Amino acid sequence: MRALYIGRFQPYHLGHQAVLEKIAGEVEEIVIVIGSAQDSHTPENPFTGGERMEMIYESLSECHLRDRCYVAPLQDIQRNSIWVSHLQSMVPRFDMVYSNNPLVVRLFSEAGVPVRKPPMFQRELYSGTAIRRLMREHKDWEGLVPDAVAAFIKEWGGVERLISVAKSDGA
Ligand code: ATP
Ligand code: MG
Repeated sequence: MRALYIGRFQPYHLGHQAVLEKIAGEVEEIVIVIGSAQDSHTPENPFTGGERMEMIYESLSECHLRDRCYVAPLQDIQRNSIWVSHLQSMVPRFDMVYSNNPLVVRLFSEAGVPVRKPPMFQRELYSGTAIRRLMREHKDWEGLVPDAVAAFIKEWGGVERLISVAKSDGA
């Protein structure tokens, strides 16, 4: 069986990793889809699709899942009614989807694709929004992401990028 797991991964964090490890205990292969892959350099989406792909591949190596996962970037289309077909035309085939996102669950269910809801892992701690806020406030965030992700973000100057794109013209 092959499952699909979709997120924006801004950044990829230990909550995502915990979900993937859980999914890996239930199916043989996982297609990880990087959503809104075209977005970068904004407060909500600081990292490029390519940067996110590198973060994910490197982290998958750390947890020995790399040879069981595909990673595919996916651009947004502004038409939810045909989004599932758009996705299916761009990523490897899959048998089921793991998601808690209500829109994602709705769209796959309407398309007849089985959906499983993974448990949340310390959501108050492991959340992209919370991690980006910690980065902007110069607080500790490194322990909330895999070591490889923290190293990449520092190497790219990711925190400085996030802080500068979050400023307004007058700041
Ligand atoms: P953001 O706050 O930017 O939306 P996020 O932490 O929700 O970031 P996404 O990339 O949106 O990260 O997440 C992809 C999927 O992973 C979503 O379906 C989300 O519900 C799930 N997810 C995120 N954090 C956790 C967590 N701590 N435990 C389990 N699932 C999680
Ligand atoms: Mg989210």
